[in-house]
Amino acid sequence: MAKIQELSELLTNQIAAGEVIERPASVVKELIENAIDAGSTQIEILIEEAGLKKIKIIDNGEGISSEEVLNAFKRHATSKIYSRDDLFRIRTLGFRGEALPSIASVSEVTLETSTGEQEGAFVYLRGGKLIEERSAQSRKGTTITVENLFFNTPARLKYVKTIQTELANITDIVNRMAISHPDIAFRLVHDENQLMRTAGNGDLKQTLAGIYGVALAKKMRKIDGKDLDFQISGYISLPEMTRASRNYLSIIINGRYIKNYLLNKAIVAGYRSKLMVGRFPIAVIEITTDPLLMDVNVHPTKQEIRISKEKELMALIELAIHQCLSNEQLIPDAIANLNFKKQTDQTYNSDEQTKLNFSDDSINQSNKPEKAATYHDLWETPKTRFFSNQKNEEFNNLQSKPADEDENETFILNEPDSLNNQEDKSSLQVALLSQHQAPYLQTAEKLMEAKKMDLPEKINLPSLEYIGQMHGTYLFAQNEEGLYILDQHAAQERIKYEYFRKKIGEVSTDLQELLVPILLDYPNSDTIKIKENQQALEEIGIHLEAFGQNSFLLRSHPVWFDKGAEEQIAKDLIDLLLEKGKVDVAKFREATAIMMSCKGSIKANHHLNDAEARSLLKDLTKTKNPYNCPHGRPVLIRFTNNDMEKMFKRIQDSH
Ligand code: ADP
Ligand code: MG
Repeated sequence: MAKIQELSELLTNQIAAGEVIERPASVVKELIENAIDAGSTQIEILIEEAGLKKIKIIDNGEGISSEEVLNAFKRHATSKIYSRDDLFRIRTLGFRGEALPSIASVSEVTLETSTGEQEGAFVYLRGGKLIEERSAQSRKGTTITVENLFFNTPARLKYVKTIQTELANITDIVNRMAISHPDIAFRLVHDENQLMRTAGNGDLKQTLAGIYGVALAKKMRKIDGKDLDFQISGYISLPEMTRASRNYLSIIINGRYIKNYLLNKAIVAGYRSKLMVGRFPIAVIEITTDPLLMDVNVHPTKQEIRISKEKELMALIELAIHQCLSNEQLIPDAIANLNFKKQTDQTYNSDEQTKLNFSDDSINQSNKPEKAATYHDLWETPKTRFFSNQKNEEFNNLQSKPADEDENETFILNEPDSLNNQEDKSSLQVALLSQHQAPYLQTAEKLMEAKKMDLPEKINLPSLEYIGQMHGTYLFAQNEEGLYILDQHAAQERIKYEYFRKKIGEVSTDLQELLVPILLDYPNSDTIKIKENQQALEEIGIHLEAFGQNSFLLRSHPVWFDKGAEEQIAKDLIDLLLEKGKVDVAKFREATAIMMSCKGSIKANHHLNDAEARSLLKDLTKTKNPYNCPHGRPVLIRFTNNDMEKMFKRIQDSH
């Protein structure tokens, strides 16, 4: 063994880089955080070859004075915390003083910066070594360029994935940074293609439009909530707009974007059964709290944080979303959905107007028109779906046009005035508006209580007049607002689901004796599982009596079992239990209700007579959530009168 000695500074920085700088996107993240901490209002991110060749970040923040520039590259050098107390009240994104030295140790960095008051400074470092230092122009702000990332750490380079993946990671980070800072104008350019830009005017909804597109932003609703410790606000997508991954859930605490599995779960829970299995909403939840309630210093990249009173925060988020959606009429508009699909097929098309108006010309160095990024280049992998691809014209419309001019507007706006001018807004929606506007103030305990009670969903399906049916699959109906098409199978599933959900909750007393007990045999391993979960079965009214080693006797069953199918249902329920493994009663009841609702529901190609169809419509209006089947598929879609008139060119189509 050699002597124990202190590691060289370069080596310690490279070791730290291993934690903080995993991939090009980590560099982008750290540099943007620095720009934000410096109070920038405009941040431009120019990337080449997914950041492996070059990452250039230009900001208009406070800059670094020339005397201090080299300090920024020293390990644990930071301007953001001075004392132990500061560590518990962190309000900046950075504070560990690790990023710049780590990045510099594994790349070539040039930094040009000025406070705007004196001559600026320029430094060039290679693999952490200072190569050049001189004065520079005095534009206020900082331009930092990172080139040949990981050139001296080939092992790290090996972990870098394909250009597409790394680029997706970068856009993901930039989008999240933009979402968490709507007051900063961001622009992201990759190999001369503008991939994203935001207006930076402080309006979160417009920022979302810049990132996800106008069509999607229109389908997002505002949520609010507050308890003694937390204040939350944000936007969530209607259940009809979902994605296959959780990547579109953004959680921001005090301006810091974080990852938190439990809070993501709370968002999804707020949708209850309105989401299809395996689908996730698009949501941005901004949380404001005393920095003392969170510990940011648990992970080098600062994306994972510890939150005190996490349970209360989860309840607050879930309830805010649940209340927001209970107040919504959730019938997907056929035309709006078609437009959304059409739009996502268009290529991004940028023009001069989209360029941010940076004061310094060096920011827009090239004036050549940017190539359009095509849909297929960018849209296909799930992560890259963040790319905005709306027409700029529409983006600008959303920014400037008063909502009442947009005749296709179906979302509830925040200003009551803009609603009054729209003839087709029902009084219902106006009434709902006042609820939307009043953020409620509840203490954590009240929230928990409300959660236990499972607030009733608001019934707001308008009454429907039956017109006819098609292919024994779809029902047609109308009311003053337009034409409705219902999927009869989904409708019946919803009705049955709610029926069983209620019945299953009250089974304990309602049992039917069997004349001949049913004998159920299971292999050894299953018998053990069944015995472990017998409680769950009893909670839904199935009392199994052990009968020899591997068999059970069933002497009675809940009254909601279908006649003649008792044995099959009992077996299916036990299979469900075996398949789910260990279950809690609430989940098992839910799964049972879903299973039962699928069972006898009318399938496609089954003709209903008029009386049956009418009674189906009537039963549907009585359900708590008439909009989705228990699997989350839509039950009905609507063509508004307005849509119909546009289709038949009775009025001008704005699209
Ligand atoms: P930290 O952000 O944790 O303080 P960094 O290594 O990321 O550490 O940065 C070191 C210091 O360099 C910061 O504390 C800040 O004073 C300065 N700095 C870095 N980037 C910028 C920038 N874009 N604008 C102004 N100052 C910056
Ligand atoms: Mg930093």
